[in-house]
Amino acid sequence: MAVKSIAVLTSGGDAPGMNAAIRAVVRAGINNEMRVIGVRRGYNGLISGDVFEMNLRSVSDIIHRGGTMLFTARSPEFNTPAGVQKAADTCRRLGVDGVVVIGGDGSFRGARDLTAAGIPCVGIPGTIDNDIQCSEYTVGFDTAMNTAMEMVDRLRDTSQSHDRCSVVEVMGRRCGDIALNTGIAVGATSILVPEIPYDLQRDVIDRMRFTQKTGKKHFIIIVAEGVGGVEELAKEIQKQTGVESRATVLGHVQRGGSPTLRDRVVASEMGNRAVDILKNGMGNRVVAVKDGRIVDYDITEALNMKKTFNKELYEIALKISI
Ligand code: ADP
Repeated sequence: MAVKSIAVLTSGGDAPGMNAAIRAVVRAGINNEMRVIGVRRGYNGLISGDVFEMNLRSVSDIIHRGGTMLFTARSPEFNTPAGVQKAADTCRRLGVDGVVVIGGDGSFRGARDLTAAGIPCVGIPGTIDNDIQCSEYTVGFDTAMNTAMEMVDRLRDTSQSHDRCSVVEVMGRRCGDIALNTGIAVGATSILVPEIPYDLQRDVIDRMRFTQKTGKKHFIIIVAEGVGGVEELAKEIQKQTGVESRATVLGHVQRGGSPTLRDRVVASEMGNRAVDILKNGMGNRVVAVKDGRIVDYDITEALNMKKTFNKELYEIALKISI
């Protein structure tokens, strides 16, 4: 069956570069002589029919903007069989033959359910945490890391002036990739990630004491959100080392901002690939990066994959950030 109409939506947490992905889907779709329908606020928009026809100019001037022009939402209703049916009915009513879902793995579970209800879906990983098991890279990750790095560089200036320790929480609930990469980039004395259980004495206090002996007077400790507890950690560090310590939670600032070149390029490649997959009559797929190349997987298979943590990079950090 020739695919004549596709819809595109963003779902779950937003990420810089989602707009670049939307743009690619719309332009590649139109290039393939498809009708492209924009859906507002994730699966909610599919349930309620909050949709609009898109053309080449609908996606002008968005490639450099953070957030998502389609808005995003979490949709508890879609998480029920009745909600999925409503969304599938909207697609049939609109003549939509396939849907591109830009989001995280919750959104991909939704895409799997909607495919099972008869509407082929393709997922594009859009999340700053880089926490999609099947992909080396997710749209938004590079921008978030660079934002975190810039913010910590600012904290470093003031920590250095006051001989302080900055304990900084960066995003990443179950994935320490932002913490690991930012930690290396800012020369953090310790990097605490959810993948590796930490020992306060060995991984923080002893490392600080060792570097104090070599003349270091200011410190940066990077903590992933999934490890948490930065206020208590700062107090404990101050108590045990005598170094004045301050906690900072960077929070949602990491979710915003103009996407980096890398996020724009990967988003463009992934958007184009998603349209190709639908054009070929396939559904229940997720686009991913493997060995630096764009690939795609069956969603169910992808959801069962295991994410590996870059232990080598972590070891390098231990060796050189001292
Ligand atoms: P993310 O996509 O960023 O992981 P969520 O986990 O919040 O974000 O998922 C986004 C939306 O995807 C949810 O609000 C829900 O509508 C849908 N979703 C999540 N999990 C499922 C599921 N198991 N089955 C069907 N839909 C789901």
